[in-house]
Amino acid sequence: MEKILYDLLFEQYGGALADEIAGGFVSRPVTLRVNRLKAGADEVFEELSRVGAELCPVKWYADAVIIKNLRESDIRKLDLYKDGKIYLQSLSSMLPPLILEPKEGESILDMAAAPGGKTTQIAAMTEGKANVTACEKNKIRAERMRFNLERQGAGRVSVMICDSRKLDPHFRFDKILLDAPCSGSGTVVPESCDFSMELYERSMKLQRELLTKALGLLRPGSRMVYSTCSVLRGENEDAIGSVKKLARVLPIDISRFEGVPTLPTAVPGTLLVKPTELYEGFFAAALERI
Ligand code: SAM
Repeated sequence: MEKILYDLLFEQYGGALADEIAGGFVSRPVTLRVNRLKAGADEVFEELSRVGAELCPVKWYADAVIIKNLRESDIRKLDLYKDGKIYLQSLSSMLPPLILEPKEGESILDMAAAPGGKTTQIAAMTEGKANVTACEKNKIRAERMRFNLERQGAGRVSVMICDSRKLDPHFRFDKILLDAPCSGSGTVVPESCDFSMELYERSMKLQRELLTKALGLLRPGSRMVYSTCSVLRGENEDAIGSVKKLARVLPIDISRFEGVPTLPTAVPGTLLVKPTELYEGFFAAALERI
């Protein structure tokens, strides 16, 4: 791990916890989600068992499964994968849509959407009956998302290729997911670490701008979820603190997420997932526009 990242972890968490976090930066087993738009969990789990997958259930999400004896490359060869009946997704990354609680008929904005893991999850959770706008700035990533949306059968999703900060200020949404671009400090694995101070600082600035924009696009009294795959306070609790005049924190009921490892968070009611052999480091906060 880069020394600069360790130093930031040390400063925020102290030596013992920083070492524990660094110990959780490992390669993780394959995890995936059943795509309810195309298949039921029983059908998917039976087929996975038939091809030799050893399935470990996830207590807090009946649609998710951990497979320790296969690699992603094995899963990508399966018809289940090619037909869009499953989506390869990290466990931590499945949390924000569950916290958002999307409902049929709602207009939902996914502000930083590609490659579409959470957008397709929202579509699946609402049985394709929410009106989802998926905004993505990077054209190549947006094309990848279009492919994923089509393969997953997520029909009622409009893709917008644009900088979300420039969305028409007159738009209003019932719910917003801002899975913000971040330093990735929670997803470091031994074979790669792209963390830099420059990326961290650039991410913090962009996150505050996106968060402020998101709250402006939300109907008063409506909720949004802010998430990052970082464990650094500057991108998480401090970002939430920067909009405290615009929004209040809606406490996340973490008892829903039995077994999810957590770190102490400076803002009560937010969720900070500790990196472990199963979970990426991740942050999520639910906010209500005042
Ligand atoms: N939510 C996605 C998923 O679950 O598959 C992952 C999103 S990733 C953390 C952040 C995304 O935000 C990247 O695809 C990045 O290109 C995009 N992005 C960065 N700045 C943006 C902006 N100003 N407006 C819209 N998208 C942006």
